[in-house]
Amino acid sequence: MADDYETETQDILKPLVFRLHENAPAIVREVLLERGWTEFDQKEQDDTDWNLYWRNSPFRMTDHHSIKPWQRLNHYPEAVRITRKDYLARHLKRMKGAYGSALYEFSPVAFIMPNDYVKFIAEYSKERQSVGRRPSYWICKPVDLSRGRGILIFQDIKDLVYDCTVIVQKYISNPLLISGYKLDLRLYVCVTSFCPLTIYTYEEGLVRFATEKFDLGSLDNVYAHLTNTSINKYGASYKKYKEGIGCGCKWTFSKFRSYLRIFGVDDLLLWQKINNIVILTLLAVTPLPVASNCFELFGFDILIDDKFKPWLLEVNYNPALCLDCSIDDTVKRRLLHDIVELLNYKEIDTLRQNEMAGSKAVRRRVPWRTAGPSTPEEAPGLLTCRKVATSNSASPVQPAPKAARGSIHKVASLTKKSVRAHPRKTLTSQLREKMNRPKTSSQAKNEDKNKLPAVHSPCSSAQLNHWLPTPDFRNCKISTHPYFLSDKDQRPIRRVGDFVLIFPFNEAALQASRDGTDVKSIIKEINKLVSKQLLSKQQNTKKRVGYLTSV
Ligand code: ADP
Repeated sequence: MADDYETETQDILKPLVFRLHENAPAIVREVLLERGWTEFDQKEQDDTDWNLYWRNSPFRMTDHHSIKPWQRLNHYPEAVRITRKDYLARHLKRMKGAYGSALYEFSPVAFIMPNDYVKFIAEYSKERQSVGRRPSYWICKPVDLSRGRGILIFQDIKDLVYDCTVIVQKYISNPLLISGYKLDLRLYVCVTSFCPLTIYTYEEGLVRFATEKFDLGSLDNVYAHLTNTSINKYGASYKKYKEGIGCGCKWTFSKFRSYLRIFGVDDLLLWQKINNIVILTLLAVTPLPVASNCFELFGFDILIDDKFKPWLLEVNYNPALCLDCSIDDTVKRRLLHDIVELLNYKEIDTLRQNEMAGSKAVRRRVPWRTAGPSTPEEAPGLLTCRKVATSNSASPVQPAPKAARGSIHKVASLTKKSVRAHPRKTLTSQLREKMNRPKTSSQAKNEDKNKLPAVHSPCSSAQLNHWLPTPDFRNCKISTHPYFLSDKDQRPIRRVGDFVLIFPFNEAALQASRDGTDVKSIIKEINKLVSKQLLSKQQNTKKRVGYLTSV
């Protein structure tokens, strides 16, 4: 009897487990250990006994199909559709054709070489022949390289050389400069689902500077024209103090926003425009195959020009999570903590533990998944909406979380009686306790606070409040219970740490993303949103002018 309880205690108190593929960033391991997780041990553990699998390359479709309710994968199938430069260019071009260039003119004109060679020559010659127009600068980038490798900037076609597939893109030659240095933004975007489309942007991020002053007279100076840290950290000026910038080559978004505000720039509008770019870009790759319990962290590279127009340069798969400086540490560590929060584990781990306990010899409890009939289209291990409903009904079978909680009470009373000491109060044990404890009213309040409308979301707080209470996500035709929906109202959680929900942004967008993505309707909504944003900008400008003339 005592042995039975001991096994049960161990099962219930098992911490969350992460599984890392080789070359996964070290900080992922650090953060998860900080949170009290343990690392998966292939020799010791059952193949499904983990909660998060992190790898740098895509998962196999079989991994997606065999996913369990308590598990998450850090990649979405086919997310690479936008992270290769030529794929992205193609998708955006198609969207421009279908929905008008006005909405999609955030990406510099691009040609995929050698295929588009003739078209590029036509464009190049047209520019050269038009009187009074300064010929453009161009940037040539290998399609499947990253970190600034193999990049060339040119104005005269005789300087264009390439020996692999490249994109030749219009070079933004009037970038916003701070103290003469070029910069771009590394924006973190987390897509928790492509169907229904659910997008979060991270409010904190990295501003990456070139380390030598911008100069169109020296196009081959990579330290002046490229903002990649992987390049600039080898520059002679990297460690030096640079006036207006400081040492190194990075700022946080917070510092950048403060800088903009000092100069009277409407950073809110800038962020709204950037969020629009993110939504429009991700719409370009829909539909992706339906997959549950996975997420994709993208790194969007955004360049701002001297008129404060944001441009999309590229979208990165596996954005760098290495720590080159203390700013990296601050931003990326917090980002990872917030990602884990976004994955909404809470009590889901009890499912895994029950399953693992069930798969071991003693099947004292009836596993939740075996309750009720299953339909043939349900993949094994997937927790469907219907099953959730079953488990919430007056079923004689106790759902796993409840069963586990019941067991915890049993264990607690047993521990009181037993002469053995309490487990050590390690971070892990505290976390386990927190995970399994029923929510207090103040925790519930905090959750509500987390759902406050986002400052940088593309719609106003009034709009958010207006649309959120009505639709019911449970009616959505999705095959699995999405982890990113709040337990309370089954809607996407609006804010988790510094992650802010930017899509769906209103009721209509939500409806249009339910049964497959109705891109046309969503674009219509975005057009309305952009008009509103412009109108409010004009009103603000008028107000400011009015204020200035009245003083
Ligand atoms: P990589 O994947 O090699 O980092 P990017 O497209 O991100 O390639 O380009 C690297 C850097 O080059 C950017 O961070 C930016 O500083 C600069 N860059 C890229 N495209 C442009 C462009 N069209 N206009 C101006 N600068 C650009």
